Amino acid sequence: MSEASGSSYNSNYRGHVCDMDQCVLRTSLQLHNFGRRFYGCRHWKPGSDEHCKSFKWLDGIPCRRGAATAPIVIAKFTRLEAEAAMAKNNEMEARAMIANLIHMERVAKRSAEKARASLRMANARARKYQIALLMSWFLVAVLFIFSLGNREIGLRQMCLP
Ligand SMILES: [Zn+2]
Repeated sequence: MSEASGSSYNSNYRGHVCDMDQCVLRTSLQLHNFGRRFYGCRHWKPGSDEHCKSFKWLDGIPCRRGAATAPIVIAKFTRLEAEAAMAKNNEMEARAMIANLIHMERVAKRSAEKARASLRMANARARKYQIALLMSWFLVAVLFIFSLGNREIGLRQMCLP
């Protein structure tokens, strides 16, 4: 670390003054700097903004393994990204289909309710017609009986001496 500690970079962060003694040698896993080595603060943790971000590239000492692995990892990462995008697209399509089905179900329920209501109205009308038919038959019967009675009276009148 003696070569890098000559260049001074200090940052006062969260109660520690960061210098090369606080740093550890790391290898970058970022796509654009994959395999590049750097000195980074030992207090740093990946994916967190809470920690010291002091670092210094250690160019001139390339990591051969990192350089060999980078294209494979980048290709895999790209493929996974494409798969993730496709999966997300499929999920969105499925959601849209579900929403459409729910809408269609609601429409079908509404038209079924309408059909039921009109059936109820038709039944009520049919019942009214039945009652009207019975009443008319009853009236016909009453008129018939009444007319029979009238004929008897007429006959009796005719039989009078
Ligand atoms: Zn630090």
